[in-house]
Amino acid sequence: MAMVLQNAILCDLDPGRVESGSLRIEGTAIAERGVHVVGKPHDEVVDCEGCVVLPGLVNGHTHLYSALAVGMPPPPKTPHHFLEILEYVWWRLDRALDAESIEVSARIGALEALRRGTTTLIDHHASPNCIDGSLDRIERGIDAVGLRGVLCYETTDRHGAEGCAAGIAENRRYLKRCARRSSGRFAGLVGGHASFTLEDESLDRLAALTDEFDTGVHIHVAEDRCDEEDARKNRGAALMDRLIEHGILKEKSIFAHGTHLTADAIERLNECGATLAHNARSNMNNAVGYAPVDAFRGPVMLGTDGIGGDLFAEAKAAWFASRDHHANLTPARVLKMLAASARRASAALGITLGKLEVGAAADIVVTDYRPSTPLSADNLAGHLLFGMSSGDVATVILAGAAVLRDREVIHRDLVADRNEAIEVAQRLWGRMAELPLE
Ligand SMILES: [Zn+2]
Repeated sequence: MAMVLQNAILCDLDPGRVESGSLRIEGTAIAERGVHVVGKPHDEVVDCEGCVVLPGLVNGHTHLYSALAVGMPPPPKTPHHFLEILEYVWWRLDRALDAESIEVSARIGALEALRRGTTTLIDHHASPNCIDGSLDRIERGIDAVGLRGVLCYETTDRHGAEGCAAGIAENRRYLKRCARRSSGRFAGLVGGHASFTLEDESLDRLAALTDEFDTGVHIHVAEDRCDEEDARKNRGAALMDRLIEHGILKEKSIFAHGTHLTADAIERLNECGATLAHNARSNMNNAVGYAPVDAFRGPVMLGTDGIGGDLFAEAKAAWFASRDHHANLTPARVLKMLAASARRASAALGITLGKLEVGAAADIVVTDYRPSTPLSADNLAGHLLFGMSSGDVATVILAGAAVLRDREVIHRDLVADRNEAIEVAQRLWGRMAELPLE
């Protein structure tokens, strides 16, 4: 059965375009776009009542394992800087994860994303005491909700050579698994935590894996000053030189943050065309500073870095942070960041996301946002930043099928999922409390 969305304001992000019209969805893709597409017998016809319809949003950098961290007890010591935030908070959480909490966390994170109009998640996962098979657990959590995912394991030398080897093996195992399928639902990247927790040899092994699978590395870069300081003090090279020397900087790589990259490093990144993932709320939360996104000429995506799945909120935060730091950004540039996330996910999954055009995947957000002021391509970004919010997301279609309808999740019992998550989170927090500081 096909579905026809009539009487919609179709808002494309890539490039920005606003048209009143209709879409016909057949199978998993958009089959027709026009001013008024008429439904055929047996078609499901949805009257969008003059509201905004958007392509499903893509989260360019997230950590689904943090979904059960909401409201967790404070750390045993108060962190005073970024490294202590990692040591006292996030590295305790990831060590406490087991197979069950990984999957439940991914499912809860995916449910939260779906309800905010996010349909694809580019995830960066860590669970040092449960590495083998962890990406399958993440996939199952996402798949239960019906979203798409681009997954990797964040390899690190924090837990010695054995832990590093297990991280690399998990990336390879999952990449192999994805290579055998071509569903457009899940894909892999090569995950690395960050330069400051990876030895030279480990970086080389990550780069070799990208060559083997013709993909890129997904890694935190210069999130805090400590990354550059570690490279210069302990590794004998500037951070970007080190990443280049060991084959990490490549066009298909994703560098998350870039908060403290030097002008020279940004230039090298621009020349390469690698993708940056900007996470404004996370950067503020960790008080690591503002990423100079206006200096990046290549693709810049928006990510939440594990702070929920709401890209409407992230876009607003990215805008306000840019204003607060006197950055030379425009609302249209923030719109472009949402488009860049969709482009990067499209490349990984081998399908077209982020576009309301014939042939594109039918990942579509139907809102009940009916503008109160004129709306056109010229001011779409203004409506996104100052009018719309994730509260306007009413229905989400994924690969041609509704997964959220009138704000109700179709395939899951949300109450049961949340009750289970509360129990799993309680056990997870209990294990965290018993862990010694590293
Ligand atoms: Zn991150």
